[in-house]
Amino acid sequence: MPILPILEIPHPILRKKAKKVRSISKKELTLAYSMVDTMREAGGVGLAANQIGELWRIIVLQMPDEEESRIYFNPQIIKTYGSREVEEGCLSLPGYRGIVNRSMWIKFQGLDHTDQIVKFEAENLLSQALEHEIDHLNGILYTDHLAEHQQLYTVTHEGEEFDEQSVGTAESPASIKID
Ligand code: ZN
Repeated sequence: MPILPILEIPHPILRKKAKKVRSISKKELTLAYSMVDTMREAGGVGLAANQIGELWRIIVLQMPDEEESRIYFNPQIIKTYGSREVEEGCLSLPGYRGIVNRSMWIKFQGLDHTDQIVKFEAENLLSQALEHEIDHLNGILYTDHLAEHQQLYTVTHEGEEFDEQSVGTAESPASIKID
């Protein structure tokens, strides 16, 4: 599948709300698989359709401990519990990371690539990634969730959407604030 260009801020499509997918046909699946290849090429944990310029409710995820990528159509968060601060980055804001507030765990529902409804509870990185990618479908960026008084900072290793290992190792905190 073709590798697609990833849109970066301040592209207006990143601030638009994506539409519900009506049916999962070859066209939607081709788009989703192109998103998977694009995400893998960029070394990201997740990608939302807005980021490649398509306003459809499609997200893809690649958990570091899973072989297969996840594809979800019309993903929804049914319930959230608790709050925690986590470090986050985004392929649409390369070179920056920030500390944001995310849920402790979530209840998720969506359609998978076989058009089956999937429901599960998620925590840790999967929960964080689902919240981040579903935010994209609603035109929301992680910088909208920056923890109070926290600033964005620059990092030298780019392209990683999330990387829990790098907490505390980000280099040269910058005075750039985008929120
Ligand atoms: Zn993102």
